Amino acid sequence: MTELLENYAAGRWQAGAGAGAALRDPITGAELVRVTRDGIDLSTAFDYARKTGGSALRALGYAERAALLAGTVGVLKANRDAYFDIATRNAGTVRKDSAIDIDGAIYTLAQYAKWGSTLDGHALLDGAPAALSKGGGFASQHVWAPARGLALFINAFNFPAWGLWEKAAPALLSGVPVLVKPATVTAWLTQRMVADVVNAGVWPQGALSILCGGPAGLLDTLAPGDLLSFTGSGDTARLLRQHPMVANGSVRANFETDSLNAALLMPDARPGTPAFDLMTHEVAREMTQKSGQKCTAIRRVLVPEGTLDATLAELSGRLAAVEVGNPRNDRVQMGALVARRQYEDVRQGIGALATEAELVVDGRNKRLVDADPRVAACVGPTLFALRSPAAADAAREVHAREVFGPVATVMPYRNMAHAQSLVQRGGGALVASLYGDDPKALAATALELAQSQGRVHVISPAVANVQTGHGNVMPQSLHGGPGRAGGGQELGGLRALVFYHRRAAIQAAPEVLNQLGAVPLPE
Ligand code: NAP
Repeated sequence: MTELLENYAAGRWQAGAGAGAALRDPITGAELVRVTRDGIDLSTAFDYARKTGGSALRALGYAERAALLAGTVGVLKANRDAYFDIATRNAGTVRKDSAIDIDGAIYTLAQYAKWGSTLDGHALLDGAPAALSKGGGFASQHVWAPARGLALFINAFNFPAWGLWEKAAPALLSGVPVLVKPATVTAWLTQRMVADVVNAGVWPQGALSILCGGPAGLLDTLAPGDLLSFTGSGDTARLLRQHPMVANGSVRANFETDSLNAALLMPDARPGTPAFDLMTHEVAREMTQKSGQKCTAIRRVLVPEGTLDATLAELSGRLAAVEVGNPRNDRVQMGALVARRQYEDVRQGIGALATEAELVVDGRNKRLVDADPRVAACVGPTLFALRSPAAADAAREVHAREVFGPVATVMPYRNMAHAQSLVQRGGGALVASLYGDDPKALAATALELAQSQGRVHVISPAVANVQTGHGNVMPQSLHGGPGRAGGGQELGGLRALVFYHRRAAIQAAPEVLNQLGAVPLPE
């Protein structure tokens, strides 16, 4: 039997009982490691994190905790090669795709370490005092005080590294202990990173814990004042929202779920223009990066009526050239989906989209490099088209079904109002991107879409070489979208700390307010 990964809970490494679940190589199907947390006492683990971890963290100030984030960066950098090796084996990703997860995690942590180093205090001020009496002898000061519970992270399979650290950075900086439950199928990388950081003794005991395996009992062990941050499918999120601790408001919860993200070619960006090239390049990249397993990936491509065929021709050419297969082969540009189950799911999703859209590039029978199609979880890039604006309006699956793989649909729009209504058929999304060269039209459209998107990524030729990518989540910008995307809010610089704090008004004399030891939350 392969190695059984241990859990870190209640301040010690603990093996779960039983054989556990096998994690596999999605190219060969070989078993790699096993995980289980059966038999581990959840109440003790949660209490230890809350009491031992929480009080030790709160004894430090923001700047001291920021220094520990910097220490975490150092440990992760020192072990980076091992993480790439695990990602190749367990996620089947090519090196540049593994980097999005691993280096993205390290970069995000480093940013919070830098931003936090400027905060010299134990609580945060929210605005200036407001006078409650004539002359200001009695005033109201709003403060953000660090939450007293623990933060439970239930994470998705597609970002085992970044998914942990993009949440842990603001939580730990806020003084809130973290307990992470990674998605089982790719838990190895998360477990290894936590093991490296714990074993290096960076954080006080109880600040960072990990439980690998199924979710049973986790929500039942939450207590009032704890925080829950979930990333995964909308279906699982719906279940969690109904849990009494979440439904009755005892536990504050953040949900990051699935999203039908759009790319919109503006009317001025005709085929042959730089903006057109930027869009087709970005769509092809978004479809193939991490085999389309990014919550922010472009799923729907909206183009002006009359440019559909040119768009399909350009995209088909780009996608046909992508070599798919074993990430260990240097020729391969796109690796596997994370597991054969995901492969079945994506093929089923392609079948569902094919009931209403035309299959232009079918990745289901793509010739694989160094991989056996009967075993490997590989699907080639797959492109659909809806031929007319009426077809784009009539489509249902295309606007509602997130096929979590290298799959996108191109559709024409009549005018900007129609384009915006198609974007909004996604029901709220993480990100939409715009491509054009008319600043006024781009700004107006960005603002129009802002109410239904967590982020609007605007690409004009002037930013071609400096833009950060439609799907890349930068810690400086908000991550999380309204409606179907879960309604969550993460990152966005130090704004992320707000979730891990509670706001209160303190009404007192100025000489009391002056002693709060709180610092302004920077913009
Ligand atoms: P998932 O099946 O919903 O699983 C997500 C997490 O929830 C896993 O850790 C899973 O544990 C756990 N879980 C499953 N059932 C549960 C239950 N009844 N109670 C508590 N936890 C439960 O999602 P996934 O397949 O891992 O991830 C893919 C989805 O995540 C996609 O839809 C993608 O769009 C979305 N995603 C969103 C974002 C974002 O930021 N918005 C980021 C990444 C991914 P097990 O693995 O042990 O089953």
